[in-house]
Amino acid sequence: MLPRGRWVRCTTSHCCPCRRSAVEASCWERSLNGTRDVFAIPLEDGAHLVYAPLHGVAFAATSGMVAALSAVLRGSEGGDQDVAALARETGLLRRPPSPVTRRRGTPTPTEVTLFLTTACNLRCTYCYASAGDAPATYMTMDVAKQGIDFVIDNARREGAPFAGVHYHGGGEPSVHWNLMTESLAYARERAGGLPVIAASAGNGVFTDRQIDWMIANLNGGMSLSFDGLPEAHDKHRPTVRGTGSSARVMHTMRRFTDADYPYAVRLTVTAEQIPLLPDSIEFVLSNFTPKRVQVEPAYQLGRHAGEPDAETEEFIAAYREAQGRAARFGHELIYSAARVGTLTNHFCGITQDNFCLSPAGNVSACFEAFSEDNEFADVFFYGSPGADGYTFDMDRLDRLRDLGVEHRSFCDGCFAKWNCAGDCYHKSLATNGRGEFTGSQRCHITRELVKDQLLTRIAGSGGLIWRDDHTGEPCGVHGGTNE
Ligand code: SF4
Ligand code: SF4
Repeated sequence: MLPRGRWVRCTTSHCCPCRRSAVEASCWERSLNGTRDVFAIPLEDGAHLVYAPLHGVAFAATSGMVAALSAVLRGSEGGDQDVAALARETGLLRRPPSPVTRRRGTPTPTEVTLFLTTACNLRCTYCYASAGDAPATYMTMDVAKQGIDFVIDNARREGAPFAGVHYHGGGEPSVHWNLMTESLAYARERAGGLPVIAASAGNGVFTDRQIDWMIANLNGGMSLSFDGLPEAHDKHRPTVRGTGSSARVMHTMRRFTDADYPYAVRLTVTAEQIPLLPDSIEFVLSNFTPKRVQVEPAYQLGRHAGEPDAETEEFIAAYREAQGRAARFGHELIYSAARVGTLTNHFCGITQDNFCLSPAGNVSACFEAFSEDNEFADVFFYGSPGADGYTFDMDRLDRLRDLGVEHRSFCDGCFAKWNCAGDCYHKSLATNGRGEFTGSQRCHITRELVKDQLLTRIAGSGGLIWRDDHTGEPCGVHGGTNE
């Protein structure tokens, strides 16, 4: 039986009451069991949020209860019996399973991401790829075919339920339209009875003929970049002719909505557009029906290098207000590193043999390292085409596989560790250089939003205790770039 009378009932449904800066030592969590997997995170007025990610448990508690729980977890004799019963009932006395996985051996991917082109029909002010600034490159059908053949053969050999063909890259995939349509037709024909799941990222500036094809063929859905209010979107996402692109993207979303087609929306928030975020979310959700809505502060990369930082307290406050509005539509916003409900040591596919082909046909693990002249190509490119499939640089691949969060000393002891999994490695390289990861302001955002998610779940579970009965795999969300 759970002890009664000393719980702190969570009174917030979607806001963390902690308004202090996480860099204040008093605001940091502390480990209760010495092995850093049960945390007491200070809230306000002496209240704490107890979070055991690996046990899938969270609850609010008084500081007295935290002290008693700490004694119980450390095995002290004669401790508080009610708290000891709570620890037993919630499984906190058991050793939890490890979420760590690691690939080994020669990679046998069953999904390929084709970086079709670096050309783009927009000139976004924050484009991570600075698309359009350099001469465009285009993939050939031979390059696409070789990648498709490879993953379909692997899928057959491995008995996979499907093969995946996806489109992404340092430009807009639909600009290389013939290759997009022909490569997918080829994949479906080559796969025979094996299902092919196809998905794409895109800027939403499509013709009706393209939209028809996407609805009919991209059965894995489309991730669209759309910044919300038309004035917010148009300021940063102009066409090559300098006109706003919001009307075109909204037309695409209306067509997708009418067809009940599965699409996601990603909003990139620059510093000066932070105040617009709540209205932007309301605008999107009251007019369209995306399955997921992702919000990320703009990274200071590519054309946005040197611009004002959006990873601020203001962003957190605006995100919280936006989440409150999204909740009215039944949505929980997605921020790529705050993933309560997911336990993993992988932030993204770079540690899991992500198989992406540059226009030249070489193998990259990172969506941002789409070209061989990327600053960190030597980190992320790990293979090249050969006469019979691909040749892999296994030393380089093993270095990528070893980038799981369990090897990030800065992340050790962070309560968000198994949800965040170390965040975007490309971003870490770009901001911290090639040395040891030393964290970023994004860590503060991640931890605040993880706290919010926990408090929301506790409130949704009756206000006392939340137990996670399902810890999913990472959703494959790509958080690293301004798209
Ligand atoms: S990157 Fe930051 S927030 Fe994420 S696990 Fe590491 S320390 Fe925690
Ligand atoms: S999340 Fe970061 S490291 Fe991962 S694929 Fe995207 S840019 Fe690369």
